[in-house]
Amino acid sequence: MKTLKIAIQKSGRLNEKSVELLKNCGLNFENYKSSLISPVSNFPLEILFLRDDDIPEYVQDGIADLGIVGENVIEETEVTVSYLQRLGFGKCSLKIAITNNSDIKELGDLEGRSIATTYPVILGKFLQKQNIHADIRTISGSVEISPGLGLSDAICDLVSTGGTLKSNGLKSFADVMASEAILIGSKGSENNDLVQELIQRIQSVLRAKETKYVVLNVEKTNLQNVLTLLPGVKSPSVLPLAEEGWVAVHTVIPERDFWDRISQLKQAGAQGIVVMPIEKIIL
Ligand code: ATP
Ligand code: MG
Repeated sequence: MKTLKIAIQKSGRLNEKSVELLKNCGLNFENYKSSLISPVSNFPLEILFLRDDDIPEYVQDGIADLGIVGENVIEETEVTVSYLQRLGFGKCSLKIAITNNSDIKELGDLEGRSIATTYPVILGKFLQKQNIHADIRTISGSVEISPGLGLSDAICDLVSTGGTLKSNGLKSFADVMASEAILIGSKGSENNDLVQELIQRIQSVLRAKETKYVVLNVEKTNLQNVLTLLPGVKSPSVLPLAEEGWVAVHTVIPERDFWDRISQLKQAGAQGIVVMPIEKIIL
């Protein structure tokens, strides 16, 4: 079968998590900072390390079959690719921000103003939808200093914590789009068996990340109360303990309501609760 190519960011915010995800999928490859292409020894796949801006077009043109890149970059480059899987990392939002003392109060106030950005396509579409005519100033970086330099009235940039905005005397004003890293593929790549195999592996890693493996002890008299709190992948396993009248319960619980669930379990009589990370969940 033809060897697939996947393009990931060479260095930057998505590099580490992309490499980690592929390694967690059981793929064996060298990750030298100097190499641009790295073969996988135990799967017919080659990894291309690129600037993130180039990834969507490489995938659209079929030079790479797959790519991992921020949704913001895909939308900005206006390529035709298949969205195969949201990956849950690299989360950020593209926002319009203004200076703390700005007289801009509502979206309509942007009419006739200048906005500096490295995302002119996405911003242009957003403003058009709102029927606002603003002067989009496309710059290639350090957008956050442009209001201070008198270059623009507002900016449109990626924000995760808001720390960069704050330290430049800016405040967020409007949400343009939310973004996260996405696995994309060339049109039709979803029909390839190897691509499907890779998607399955990625999904099993993502699923495992969202859940914890929990083992706890409970007196038989309290077992029913504890079980009603535990949905599990199918249903929890209940095993007898050496001590008469006690059982151990094994199950998986979602990470997101972990702390709530643990305190409910304690109240219901659970003891000696052990929580473990899960590597993969194959359904
Ligand atoms: P390259 O050298 O590959 O062109 P870059 O400098 O354009 O890298 P990075 O800053 O590494 O890009 O960001 C890569 C992606 O990480 C962004 O396109 C975005 O999807 C995501 N991201 C997550 N949080 C942030 C953030 N706070 N600021 C910028 N990007 C973020
Ligand atoms: Mg870039």
